[in-house]
Amino acid sequence: MRPTLLNPLFAPITSLPGIGPRLAPLYQRLTGDKIADLIWHRPSGIVDRRFCPDIAQAPAGRVATLVVRIDGHLPSGSSKKPYRVRCSDDSGSMHLVFFHGREDWLRRQLPEGEWRVVSGIVEHFNGDIQITHPDHIVALAEKETIMRVEPVYPLTAGLTAKMVAKTVRAALERVPDLPEWQDPAWKQRQNWPDWKSALLALHQPNSEAAVADGGEIRRRLAYDELLANQLALAMVRAHMRKIKGRSLVASGRLRDRVLAALPYRLTGAQNRSLAEIDTDLAAPFRMLRLLQGDVGSGKTIVALFAMLTAIEAGTQAALLAPTEILARQHFATIAPLAESAGIRVALLSGRDKGKPREALLTALASGEIDLLIGTHALIQNDVIFRDLALAVIDEQHRFGVQQRLDLAAKGNGTDVLVMTATPIPRTLLLTAYGDMDASRLDEKPPGRQPIDTRILPSSRIEEIVSGLSRALQRQTRIYWVCPLVEESETSDLAAAEERHRHLSAIFGHRVGLVHGRMKSADKDKVMAAFAAGDLDILVATTVIEVGVDVPDATIMVIEHAERFGLAQLHQLRGRVGRGQKASSCLLLYDPPLSETAKARLEIMRATEDGFRIAEEDLRLRGGGEILGTRQSGLPELVVADLALHGDLLAVARDDSRLILDRDPELSSARGQALRTLLYLFQRDAAIRTLRSG
Ligand code: ADP
Ligand code: MG
Repeated sequence: MRPTLLNPLFAPITSLPGIGPRLAPLYQRLTGDKIADLIWHRPSGIVDRRFCPDIAQAPAGRVATLVVRIDGHLPSGSSKKPYRVRCSDDSGSMHLVFFHGREDWLRRQLPEGEWRVVSGIVEHFNGDIQITHPDHIVALAEKETIMRVEPVYPLTAGLTAKMVAKTVRAALERVPDLPEWQDPAWKQRQNWPDWKSALLALHQPNSEAAVADGGEIRRRLAYDELLANQLALAMVRAHMRKIKGRSLVASGRLRDRVLAALPYRLTGAQNRSLAEIDTDLAAPFRMLRLLQGDVGSGKTIVALFAMLTAIEAGTQAALLAPTEILARQHFATIAPLAESAGIRVALLSGRDKGKPREALLTALASGEIDLLIGTHALIQNDVIFRDLALAVIDEQHRFGVQQRLDLAAKGNGTDVLVMTATPIPRTLLLTAYGDMDASRLDEKPPGRQPIDTRILPSSRIEEIVSGLSRALQRQTRIYWVCPLVEESETSDLAAAEERHRHLSAIFGHRVGLVHGRMKSADKDKVMAAFAAGDLDILVATTVIEVGVDVPDATIMVIEHAERFGLAQLHQLRGRVGRGQKASSCLLLYDPPLSETAKARLEIMRATEDGFRIAEEDLRLRGGGEILGTRQSGLPELVVADLALHGDLLAVARDDSRLILDRDPELSSARGQALRTLLYLFQRDAAIRTLRSG
């Protein structure tokens, strides 16, 4: 249970004054739906309002706070002209300027003959000094409240700077004092403030430099987050290791049969990874291993070979895929190979119901099925194995730690192999999969044609479209990915629909559309039509399933490529270049491109090595944005930025191990505080691995 102390932070933002049904969705888009999400919304800049000159000395272009007497109102008389208010001090006079100003409101704010404190950007206009739409107008008594450094927050459409600043302030008022979870000696050596003081200070940067990296204050908070992350992973690892594993050994009889049926030989990287997996399987503790390999690097066969060892050792294996279509694809690949090895394979998805499902479950429980392939339907309670010894989870990033635990819990000391096609830089590997050992498939199967990647401005779309007509005469298939519009899913969709109409008008019925709003059965139907060749062009938002194999597709067009994470571009590009024919990838962008954006797209042109792309992306963009964490499903870091705080990661890992060595159940006073930390960063799944939950 979450400590009650944290409840105020997990209250919905609608519990804050002024956040009703109209504003809540805007804040939700900007930060999240809980107060905790607001407290991590860091300022992106500052406005320094401490400069308080006389009117005559106020320099143009600078933010200033001025104390002025209101001399008179000059209503505009025409909607084209602004409303002006004349003011003065002993040094001179100036105007406050309002476009579309409402007279009654302005007269109330700025009564003639009285003094006011106003703050905004000073302008010199036709020999006159003025401020257009002052940011603040207050009475003399409130001068101190505005004469300070103001944090400026990132915004979203519909929310003003003032609103967001006020809401964050209100959220910060709800922040409780929390027990200290850092080691006192370490904290003192680092000269770190308490958590709450650090958090409040984070929202009061006093210089642009403090905004950029936050210094010690942000380091403390970043370390908190990295510690929560590493501790949670260490707990999951400890939990998995505590349950005794089993030694799975096989002579390789089944493997040999499949090898004989394979039209190719394994690559060096496949053999190396298999050797690492075999060592784990044979060892008497549980395997928790990540198999990393680019799209097309041949993970499936490695997984199958690992499962064959488990099956030959007299147990069962399961392969969990993130989507129906991928589960079916795995089944289609594996079933014929399994047949040559004489083992029994079945497919289970959410669509299986009634009698057939019951029959399947009975066969599974009695051990008549050796290998079960499926979607998360595998995790349902009534899916019972006779003896599940190896669980393989494909495309891990769609699943969470909890599902990993749930699937493993279906067996007794079940070994777990997680496969991911997301190339993850080494530093990030620790934050995402710190509970696992890792193997890399860093070598592609031979005979792959390089993909010809080009970077083009979107103004050349018509040219590209006529190029596609020519390409289609050569029997190819084309993916066309539409822009990721951050603002909303609806506009995402609108862009894709628009492109679909445009291309349909040219190419007729053989153009399909898939997007995230479609029911998965409908999505599968369109994908299947594309795979079967009933459609030539597939227009898609970014939902094109990772891992779906259409070897005949040779052209990938990506609009607004500059908006994608490099890892995502890499994944998308990996949809082509899978067959014998030469493939190409067209990355379209909207000029002008920033230097960084240009450099990023250039990397895509220069290499197809996913690991190199990921490392370069991390270098160029910093850890916060790497991989488009949101899409990849990797745990998002809210305060820590690996580009700034990467050095703290290793410390956090060592710290976590030490903590669990000394206090494995987190029962000491510091242990209790650390539990609070885990809840604060929503690493709850880890806490459930503790006996005393
Ligand atoms: P991944 O799941 O890593 O994206 P797959 O396992 O789907 O990749 O393999 C991609 C393709 O490469 C498949 O068609 C597979 O048959 C083929 N393949 C796998 N290993 C080899 C190899 N050693 N030599 C040649 N082709 C291979
Ligand atoms: Mg795969």
